[in-house]
Amino acid sequence: MIRRRRTILTDAAAAIPESTAAHGARVNLLGLPRAELEAFCAALGHRTYRARQLMHWLYKRGCGDFAQMTDLARGFRAELAERAEVALPHILSEQQAADGTRKWLLSGGSGQAFEMVYIPEPDRGTLCISSQVGCALDCAFCSTAQQGFNRNLSAAEIVGQVWLANRELGFVAGAERIISNVVLMGMGEPLANYRNVLPAMRILLDDLGFDLSRRRVTLSTSGLVPQIYRLAEDINVALAVSLHAPDDALRNELVPINRRHPIAELLDACWHYIDEQNGRSVTIEYVMLDGVNDSPVQARALARLLAGHPAKVNLIPFNPFPGTGFRRSSEQAIRSFRDELIRGGVIATVRRTRGEDIDAACGQLVGRVSDRTVVRLGSKMAAAQHRPGAGRGVASAVGPGEGAHR
Ligand code: SF4
Repeated sequence: MIRRRRTILTDAAAAIPESTAAHGARVNLLGLPRAELEAFCAALGHRTYRARQLMHWLYKRGCGDFAQMTDLARGFRAELAERAEVALPHILSEQQAADGTRKWLLSGGSGQAFEMVYIPEPDRGTLCISSQVGCALDCAFCSTAQQGFNRNLSAAEIVGQVWLANRELGFVAGAERIISNVVLMGMGEPLANYRNVLPAMRILLDDLGFDLSRRRVTLSTSGLVPQIYRLAEDINVALAVSLHAPDDALRNELVPINRRHPIAELLDACWHYIDEQNGRSVTIEYVMLDGVNDSPVQARALARLLAGHPAKVNLIPFNPFPGTGFRRSSEQAIRSFRDELIRGGVIATVRRTRGEDIDAACGQLVGRVSDRTVVRLGSKMAAAQHRPGAGRGVASAVGPGEGAHR
């Protein structure tokens, strides 16, 4: 009997996301979506309904202390205490902006840190979470890119941000939810960490998990095309794409992954995602850079790309950070750009900048990345262009999974 249980545990452990299983001897339950939590309970010799009870405590009651889970058998609680944990990212510091936006700096271990931001609005509360410590994609206008890349966050660290923010914001079981929307727009490229982002999103959507509507969980990507096709098979969430330029020549400079997956290929993948998941539209993010991508000619070119497709454009006033050579477009230029898009038949809005006084606005998250294990994509691609087979080395710069498993 003992041998049988050990065998099952080995099988179940294989189903647990690598980064979660690797977190010491105990499994962090925040990294396990329902099916994997059921497998974990089965591996301990318990019926699968125990997983549902656990999820109720974790996500409906906000309780991570097994001793308090009083409707679980005493023996099961003891086993959980031995084999499992509910471990949250450690808060290093917190800042609050004049507009109520809150930003937390969270420990990524080994001196690394990442950030999450809560943005309160009258009709919603949005939490912007990170998926990686740093980022390898090297977008020219992004302060995270200046940090380089350290590592992927585990599924538990991604879910743990939502759990932690709920706790810090005063979550009360049964009361109206504080976090109504979650956006994966913090540090990192979510699709470069597919293996951990996917289970995390499953927990966000699960009615036994955070039970968020699929329209209120937004994954934002700079354009990892193979992963967008894979996403279309795996999960239905709101998709946002960082486009930032209406032509490949400019986008190659602003978003270097474009040299591998140019605009036409990227947009085809977006329309496929919407078709497959029966979605409403893709949000096209476009940061407004003075004199770079904000002319009426460029607005008309963008409208031609998008008109007739399920897309809406979100214009983001650039948020400067130390050392950047870019400037924010004038309000007049942003308004004119928006009006050109609308005249071209494209829905367009301007994002209101939040949390600027604490560097919590879009593109300003920096965390702390002191150990950069992967070279930044822009420099990697520049070097690759001088070698035979130019461009083939990009996958290693993006991190595990681009063009392979993610
Ligand atoms: S914009 Fe996103 S993908 Fe690009 S470098 Fe910044 S975090 Fe990475």
